[in-house]
Amino acid sequence: MAKDLYSILGVSKNASEEEIKKAYRKVAMKYHPDRNPGDKEAEAKFKEAAEAYEILSNSEKKQRYDTYGTTDSAGHTGFEGFSQGGFGGFGGFDDIFTQFFGGASQGGGRRNGKRSMSVDGSDLQFSLAITLEEAHNGVTKKVSFNGNVSCKTCHGAGGSGIKNCGTCHGAGVVRQQRGFFITESTCHACSGLGQTMQNQCNDCHGEGRKVANRTIEVKVVSGIKDGQKIFLQGQGDAGVRGGKIGDLYILVNVQSHKFFTRVDSDIHFNITIPFVDAILGSEIEVPTIDGKYEKVKVPLGIQGESDITIKGKGMNRLNTGGLRGNMVLKVKIETPVNLTKKQKQLIEEFKAESNEKNSPNSQGFFNKIKNLFS
Ligand SMILES: [Zn+2]
Ligand SMILES: [Zn+2]
Repeated sequence: MAKDLYSILGVSKNASEEEIKKAYRKVAMKYHPDRNPGDKEAEAKFKEAAEAYEILSNSEKKQRYDTYGTTDSAGHTGFEGFSQGGFGGFGGFDDIFTQFFGGASQGGGRRNGKRSMSVDGSDLQFSLAITLEEAHNGVTKKVSFNGNVSCKTCHGAGGSGIKNCGTCHGAGVVRQQRGFFITESTCHACSGLGQTMQNQCNDCHGEGRKVANRTIEVKVVSGIKDGQKIFLQGQGDAGVRGGKIGDLYILVNVQSHKFFTRVDSDIHFNITIPFVDAILGSEIEVPTIDGKYEKVKVPLGIQGESDITIKGKGMNRLNTGGLRGNMVLKVKIETPVNLTKKQKQLIEEFKAESNEKNSPNSQGFFNKIKNLFS
């Protein structure tokens, strides 16, 4: 009777890919030959688990097994002849986990049907928050993150004594004759890499890279906008065993400002002025993105909801060598409240003196709506 691969790993038939992986890891740790030297039963269980995992982690094989209770067309369970594939060349205890669960086997691109020893490092992305002032002036910031760096001990090689795998002779796969059929499976001695390493570096467990905290300086150019990315070639993750280094992207997040609103290269700033200043005109001082105050003339007779534009006092424009946007004052006019008796009297007098020419817009407006429903 065929063995139940699910019960070997101690999972149910509905177990997810992740659960199967976890279960295998647990069983493999328990029965690994390094932990049970000379224990034939443990060794057999270890092999059995590896074989079960090989099938259940491969969607095609898993489906065939679920349907037919076997994984090859010859009607075998897939167990017979397994030991011929050989576990003899299996590396140290750590190997199985770097090979099965991380490092090489995950990113491992297959070439000519076998995995390559080196794997390119990943691209990394981090976000960097800066103030609006920093976006205007440009800034150099330190960014710290954890990433893979090349192992100094082995100079990224992962070790020495790399040679073709004795079991598969460099093919990464082993062929087995089963009756009339020849089946092909990943070589367990080298996990399909086709090569083995004799002197594995202890510092990086043969990966040629290690996770370390890195701090880099990022130059943010003047005029940068929210959401723009800074590209840093070759600053990403180090590759496995000499694989290409990935790139680094810094996503710039320009924080919103307490007073200023950026609109493209312009800066909008809301101001409220007393109505007498709006009537008589005045001079006011407003803060700018440069951190200074700027004198501005409020023209006499300025209307509510109007703009005063200060040319060239907005944000530096990206890559223009000093061209700038404008600063736009969005003007609101405050109607006076809490009037004294005297003030009220003066306003009454002012009203008595007023004529249509003083408020042409509202006169025109009221004339327009007067006959709306007649
Ligand atoms: Zn190393
Ligand atoms: Zn091999």
